[in-house]
Amino acid sequence: PCTEYDKAYFRAYSDIGIHEEMIKDHVRTSTYRAAIMQYQDSISGKVVMDVGCGTGILAIFCANAGAKRVYAVDASDIAFQATEIVKSNNLSDKVIVLHGRVEDVNIEEMVDVIISEWMGYLLLYETMLPSVIFARDKWLKPGGLILPSHATLYMAPVTHSVRYHESVDFWRDVYGINMTSMLPLAKQCAFEEPCVETITGENVLTWPSAVIHVDCYTVLAKELESISAKYKFVSMLQAPLHGFALWFDVEFDGPHIPSNEHVQDFERSSSELILHPNNTCKKRIKSNEAIVLSTAPEDDPTHWQQTLIYFYEPIELKQNQIIEGSITLSQSKENARFLNIHLEYSRSGGRSFVKETAMR
Ligand code: SAH
Repeated sequence: PCTEYDKAYFRAYSDIGIHEEMIKDHVRTSTYRAAIMQYQDSISGKVVMDVGCGTGILAIFCANAGAKRVYAVDASDIAFQATEIVKSNNLSDKVIVLHGRVEDVNIEEMVDVIISEWMGYLLLYETMLPSVIFARDKWLKPGGLILPSHATLYMAPVTHSVRYHESVDFWRDVYGINMTSMLPLAKQCAFEEPCVETITGENVLTWPSAVIHVDCYTVLAKELESISAKYKFVSMLQAPLHGFALWFDVEFDGPHIPSNEHVQDFERSSSELILHPNNTCKKRIKSNEAIVLSTAPEDDPTHWQQTLIYFYEPIELKQNQIIEGSITLSQSKENARFLNIHLEYSRSGGRSFVKETAMR
């Protein structure tokens, strides 16, 4: 059923600004286009579904790559614009814009390819991936292609004194006036909720840890309702720990090769992370040339930036000191598009802390 929250969600996507921001995110849009071109052989002459087409940009890229037909589905009123854009590019015979939820639309055939740009902050915010899973299970032919194919959410400890000073320590001395009494409020206002902002590799204290790795060919919607991961970091620097940064990447990898064991093992290990003890991943090894859309601090910035979860009080870390704990992201009971975050952390030999927050 389409709830009031869903209606508000789709209303937000009827605004031009959000589409402009996404399209102007060159890293995002050009990586999708490059992936479409890489899979041109699998798209040309085939039937595609674009789950959440927005302005229709990805559907049109697919049509330009030779798709026989593209079902471009969007529940937001932006679908009216998509229809006009398709018309003015003389693609109305190929791109069929369907204004409705992918859960509700009906088409006359199965599709060879599903493409979607479903990722939100913290990868899972907005909870759009279940709609892609729904489309996969209902409309994708066996052996069909899903773009992107895999997604990984990462976290890493960060130091960010500049940020802490400007939001918190600033109040200690304001034009010579002691406003220290503002500190609790300042910390709460600045750091109660996750912050979407850009950091650099220099803020990151060590290698990231994978929170979740999603295989879009096999993931189930119920697996996304609540995800938990343990982490253990060894700080490479002596620095105040101000919180954690989270970011994701998605990979455009080929379709599953069913049950030829050798091939499957090889394929699987080639696209998976190298997990060190406690999930710390140093780098990804890929035998193939899968295109990756990364939102990591060391890569070119995107409109997703990074998501920071700051503590109210920094923790002084020594070099090689361990920081460990767990994180749980769960869909909010009131609105499944919101994410509740439960973070536990402790420094080796120190007390442990809990931070409860939410992305709304
Ligand atoms: N593909 C476009 C837009 C991506 S934004 C681009 O790359 O620029 C995601 C879009 O998915 C939004 O327009 C939103 O309205 C749509 N969407 C999200 N969930 C949907 C669902 N269940 N059914 C149909 N459209 C959906």
